[in-house]
Amino acid sequence: RTVYVNGEYLPENEARVSVFDRGFLMADGVYEVTSVLDGKLVDFDGHAVRLDRSLSELSMRAPVTRDELLQIHRELVARNDLTDGLVYLQITRGAPADRDFAFPDPDEVPPTIVLFTQSKPGLADAPAAKTGIKVISIDDIRWGRRDIKTVQLLYPSMGKMMAKAKGCDDAWMVEDGYVTEGTSNNAYIVKDGRIVTRPKSNDILHGITRAAVLRYAAEAQMEVDERPFTLEEAKAADEAFVTSASTFVMPVVEIDGTPVGTGAPGPVAARLREIYLEESRKAAI
Ligand code: PMP
Repeated sequence: RTVYVNGEYLPENEARVSVFDRGFLMADGVYEVTSVLDGKLVDFDGHAVRLDRSLSELSMRAPVTRDELLQIHRELVARNDLTDGLVYLQITRGAPADRDFAFPDPDEVPPTIVLFTQSKPGLADAPAAKTGIKVISIDDIRWGRRDIKTVQLLYPSMGKMMAKAKGCDDAWMVEDGYVTEGTSNNAYIVKDGRIVTRPKSNDILHGITRAAVLRYAAEAQMEVDERPFTLEEAKAADEAFVTSASTFVMPVVEIDGTPVGTGAPGPVAARLREIYLEESRKAAI
């Protein structure tokens, strides 16, 4: 694989980052994952806008312009012959001369920018979309700025492991009885034809797929309620699903061992997935 590090395209085994990089020492960095379908980037602008927001919330500067970022994404897709897959982008606060809690002066320490691709043949035809996934619920013990897409992913990673240990695919996180989101996706339920999802706040990541799906749902005259929902409501719902850039719209068929609705993927999730994939392919650049 060819990867990108601080202005250079290199074979992955020649790419280097300092041991003093604050991303490595302190998870002081942000990331984005953009999907690639038929060699084109899905919702690049959405990811670029959220990246800028994450950076500004952490008083970090973008090391490249938006146009340059698009060029780097495209160059990596081309150099790696990527048809279907993902482009991972990470920007950290760089590598000061020594470890220190205080932020370094950004004029002296430039951010570190790394991008690489992940090939996922058949990304849009994942078998799980037909069968649905099973989730467990876990306490949401993450910090209070989940709207910033930082690389602090230890708890979501542990959540995935807790799910796997129970023979499930993912975990939904719960705070004060209400579902916040999945470990790496936004969560939804469907009850009596209405789609319910938690509103945007500092409690959840503002998913790029979420924004697109809610827009398409509105265009298709589907009813959407942006409000928190409880775990109990979710277990009693007609359908449940999650959205993310890498899984698009993915049905959830079981929560803590309780089947959701019929226990099979439902029509609303299936329809949204179809619309999302169709519109995303059309708009991809
Ligand atoms: N919530 C969390 C916690 C996530 O990690 C992700 C994916 N990175 C999402 C939601 C979905 O966001 P997006 O649709 O932009 O991939």
